[in-house]
Amino acid sequence: MSNQEQTLEGAIHQYLEKHGFEALCPKAVLFDMDGVLYDSMSNHAVAWQRSMATFGIQMTELDAYLTEGARGVDTIREMVRRQQGREITEQEAQLMYDEKTRQFHQMQKPPVMSGIPELLRQLHDDGLQMGVVTGSGQRPLIERLLHDFGEYLDERHIVTAYDVKRGKPHPDPYLMGLQKAGNLQPWQALVVENAPLGVRAGSASQVFTIAVNTGPLPEDALLNEGANLLFDKMTSLSNTWSDLWQTIQKFA
Ligand code: CA
Repeated sequence: MSNQEQTLEGAIHQYLEKHGFEALCPKAVLFDMDGVLYDSMSNHAVAWQRSMATFGIQMTELDAYLTEGARGVDTIREMVRRQQGREITEQEAQLMYDEKTRQFHQMQKPPVMSGIPELLRQLHDDGLQMGVVTGSGQRPLIERLLHDFGEYLDERHIVTAYDVKRGKPHPDPYLMGLQKAGNLQPWQALVVENAPLGVRAGSASQVFTIAVNTGPLPEDALLNEGANLLFDKMTSLSNTWSDLWQTIQKFA
């Protein structure tokens, strides 16, 4: 047995033991959107920095990656609290977030993440359904998802900010993803995430969570949140997929 197989098997053993499950039998893969399906995080980071600067709030690139996945208004309220020592309303935060969104949409459309087309084709061939679980909710994003991934993606399998009251890092978005995928149990799916708060959400939903570190964060930022496997980029996951799928089938 190769080292890699042992690592994959070990990760699955650990997952089953932690949650008291007897099998891992995925029927769907739930993808986060930004930084996973799209190489969009650097745009978001720039839009965050520029927009918050206009309100006298300093936000670094690292801040943008560390808070990724949280509701934008929650991030803003926390930043204002910390840097200006005052509480602002949700409405006030929303106005500031609108500026961030405006700046983001002025930038060039981010490309599909390298490795994603190859990965999706393999999942499809292996009979796995695709789901998307995102904290975003703008209609143009949904249209783009359907345009880019329509071959694999059914609109009913997309979870947006509007489908849940509590966003990531709460498990609610991924639990809704399981429900939308056909009332699946946690051991009947996989999650693919790039952000610490997203990994925490996936892990809290008890779904086997694959972290792909597509940004500048240290690996521990994802591993400490409960990632079951970690890849350094999407092409690594795509290249490993057939081995991973073979390993998973031993646990069905
Ligand atoms: Ca993300």
